[in-house]
Amino acid sequence: MHPDEFRRLGYQIIDLIADYRATIASRPVWSQARPGEMRSQLPATPPEHPEPPEAILADVEQIMMPRLSNWQHPRFFGYFPANASLASLLGDMLSGGLGQLGLNWQASPPLTELEELTTDWMRQLLGLSEAWRGVIQDTASTSTLVALLCARERASDHSQVRGGLQALPQPLVVYTSTQSHSSVEKAALLAGFGRDNLRLLPVDETFALRVDALEAAIAADRAAGRVPCAVVASIGATATTACDPLEPIGAICRREGIWLHVDAAMAGSAMILPECRPLWQGIEQADSLVLNPHKWLGAAFDCSLYYVRDPQHLIRVMSTNPSYLQTSADGAVTNYRDWGIPLGRRFRALKLYFLLRCEGAEGLRTRLRRDLANARWLAEQIDATPHWRRLAPVPLQTVCVRHEPPGLSGEDLDRHTLRWVGAINASGAAYLTPAILDGRWMARISIGAEPTEHADVAALWELMQATAGRE
Ligand code: PLP
Repeated sequence: MHPDEFRRLGYQIIDLIADYRATIASRPVWSQARPGEMRSQLPATPPEHPEPPEAILADVEQIMMPRLSNWQHPRFFGYFPANASLASLLGDMLSGGLGQLGLNWQASPPLTELEELTTDWMRQLLGLSEAWRGVIQDTASTSTLVALLCARERASDHSQVRGGLQALPQPLVVYTSTQSHSSVEKAALLAGFGRDNLRLLPVDETFALRVDALEAAIAADRAAGRVPCAVVASIGATATTACDPLEPIGAICRREGIWLHVDAAMAGSAMILPECRPLWQGIEQADSLVLNPHKWLGAAFDCSLYYVRDPQHLIRVMSTNPSYLQTSADGAVTNYRDWGIPLGRRFRALKLYFLLRCEGAEGLRTRLRRDLANARWLAEQIDATPHWRRLAPVPLQTVCVRHEPPGLSGEDLDRHTLRWVGAINASGAAYLTPAILDGRWMARISIGAEPTEHADVAALWELMQATAGRE
């Protein structure tokens, strides 16, 4: 495609995106498409000859867009906010347009140096000490895998010894809570710890990891000849945004020589607010930390920040140094290929840079405070209304709730919950996620889509009462 043609079509695509965002509130929130429906409307074989770009755009508008699930909708309350702010999108588009590939510093000096800069800007905004160095990964799942690989190496150095992991005389153990995200279990299994050596520990009434259970499990493992290797603590556990108590957990990890990784994928963004930082009191004792600006903060997916206190250890574990990647700048620069799994690296920092510069820290803080206030308001309504029950504290922007009409319990209550949540989701008027907490279905309302205002949350509460009452 010639740049002139790109310019003509590019403007059309920008118009399409801007129109989509400007009118998104008029669309149903969540896709009602049936499996295979969209694909069946597109050719099954690839085009042999060039096609007019207008025809491709028509497919997007007529076949794809009506079937989108609209994550950027003001009445999206599902999973977690996945804000792709238009400011960050400008950086994301630029990243693709500039076509950079950061194999090493030399391969794109601005790519590396902007990543150093933006991760350090974020460090400052989060109130973290200068001891932390950051890198942008694709997702929290990858970051947690990298953390557990580093923990495994610190405890065993196994990749340097004959026989590798298979030759270890004593198994290494990972500890986390029953409330941690499934990516923690996945990372532990992928890093070779084995299901037998992953402890899913009980939580207290706030759904935070019980420190006494952690201590007991470590002691039992040591007594049995196993080696406690890593603890993964959640700041903002997926179901309820519960925060594990980092201060005592950190103290245990220090005492026992255990790696502490903190999964703050969702809640980490809140730490740009000084008033939220007590939730991760003790963070400085961690060895590694992940948070996802691609969730609440507004960086278009994917943008996951992984911070470590000892980059040399990370580099030692992840480094490869083939002759063709060596440059005369090595030693004086950061080569991010040694900070994670992939070799190739996109210019992801641009979207964070655009977000931070266009919105400003104060703009971001104001938006997050709005969401916290909306969640508190909804929690108050629920608490004050008969037959509605809030199931967990609301430290941040997620509200877990059940409508419990008199006489309904057990599986009947589950059916009721799934019916009213399903009815709201099918209506297109809002979207929330049903999930199981303590063995029973509930509705999980995650507030924080960029355009969600108080009126949207108030409308949701009306809808919840009307829909659950009808059941
Ligand atoms: N950890 C927590 C606490 C999460 O809420 C999520 C997302 O749902 C993840 C990890 C996984 O995030 P990612 O999709 O970036 O791997």
